[in-house]
Amino acid sequence: MTKIAVFPGSFDPFTIGHESIVKRALPLFDKIIIAIGYNSNKQDFFPLDIRKKWINDVFKNYDNVVVDCFEGLTIEFCHQVGAKYLLRGLRTAIDFEYERSIAQMNKYMAEGIESVFLLTTPAHTPVNSTVVREIIRYGGDASQFLPKEINIHDHKF
Ligand code: ADP
Repeated sequence: MTKIAVFPGSFDPFTIGHESIVKRALPLFDKIIIAIGYNSNKQDFFPLDIRKKWINDVFKNYDNVVVDCFEGLTIEFCHQVGAKYLLRGLRTAIDFEYERSIAQMNKYMAEGIESVFLLTTPAHTPVNSTVVREIIRYGGDASQFLPKEINIHDHKF
């Protein structure tokens, strides 16, 4: 049976922390779907199509990684794509508490789906999309926190 994992997030933008989690999870699954969750009533920093393109660029040489977008409940998306695993990264105890609650609620709602957590590699623990956005917003250079395939200067905003 094909083991499919969904790695959901806003990825606004996708960072080296996200990249590392996906690459480290590859040996565990047959296919990983990086799923960009969006809310059509909310304005994100980078447009959805740009975020999707950037992640596709990062994984262009990986046949077992696909990028998709979804709106609504993550477990519903998992059902739609036949995924039995939800992949998440854990940086800190704050991440843990937040993720624990979501994973346990998801377990009540979708018993067949297991959440799988990978601890961040130490070097990536401080990297987060919110801070990266702030650096970019104020004209700083955030390139060291982004996968090498992502060049934010390709995008005018
Ligand atoms: P969300 O809006 O769901 O928190 P994010 O795009 O911020 O989405 O993160 C998606 C997933 O990636 C989450 O599981 C988050 O904990 C994880 N993550 C974010 N940054 C890092 C990092 N630097 N190292 C490892 N995992 C990370």
